[in-house]
Amino acid sequence: MISLKQLKNQKDTKSGEPMDEASRRAFLKGSAAAVAIAPGMMLFAYGANNAVAKPLGEAVSSKTRWGLLIDAAKFTDADVDNCVKACQKENGWQDNGRPLTDAQWIRRVNLSNKKTKESFSLPMMCQHCAEPPCVDVCPTGASFRRDDGIVLVDKHICIGCRYCMMACPYKARSFVHEHLEDQKEYAPRGIGTVEACTMCVHRVDEGRQPACVEAAPEGAMVFGDLNEPTSKLAQLVKTVATQQVRADLNLDPGVRYRNI
Ligand code: SF4
Ligand code: SF4
Repeated sequence: MISLKQLKNQKDTKSGEPMDEASRRAFLKGSAAAVAIAPGMMLFAYGANNAVAKPLGEAVSSKTRWGLLIDAAKFTDADVDNCVKACQKENGWQDNGRPLTDAQWIRRVNLSNKKTKESFSLPMMCQHCAEPPCVDVCPTGASFRRDDGIVLVDKHICIGCRYCMMACPYKARSFVHEHLEDQKEYAPRGIGTVEACTMCVHRVDEGRQPACVEAAPEGAMVFGDLNEPTSKLAQLVKTVATQQVRADLNLDPGVRYRNI
């Protein structure tokens, strides 16, 4: 494993001169399995035959804005629970029945209309806000937003002050209270730090769908690039009625809903 800085300074083994861009890419294809794009966050490099979301070694770009559209009408309680379980399995966190202290990257929210008595449930996770208050209040820069819209926590510089948890209007973040073992290599977690849905960034960087999207009923969750007019997500957002939770806060979430 090498860091981006190390990669940038990589020397040609024969000439001893710094590698040019083409050589660096060839080096990545040939030998490196993963590149650190930030402490605790890896960009995995693959051979030419594997699908990737962007060219190898290229930084994420604001040309892309990853987002989700969640259709509440297509979810039963059990469907939402399946998404929660998929996230737990994928990212290695558990619900031990202690709502105040357990990790909660995604949760089921039950809603009911007092007048019509109609009720439904929906999955709620980090909304990957374009104007994220969690990032604004973080004193160390551990909370950050990638150029492609995914909001993350750098576990290496999170001091566990929990300001971000207080600032998040969606209660999307949780604090790790206990020593952890058997973590997933691609989803590092640590006692004394804050965490939340990463939009399965490790999958997204490989050109794959988030785990909850795969577990959801057909068409209930659409993942894609909000900035790409031809993407299914962008087309839906343009043509059907969608809602932002707490749109009044003007946080411009990347997660949108239907039928709520
Ligand atoms: Fe931050 Fe909360 Fe918005 Fe996620 S939902 S980006 S944790 S403010
Ligand atoms: Fe969990 Fe990934 Fe879905 Fe976020 S996108 S809620 S991390 S499964």
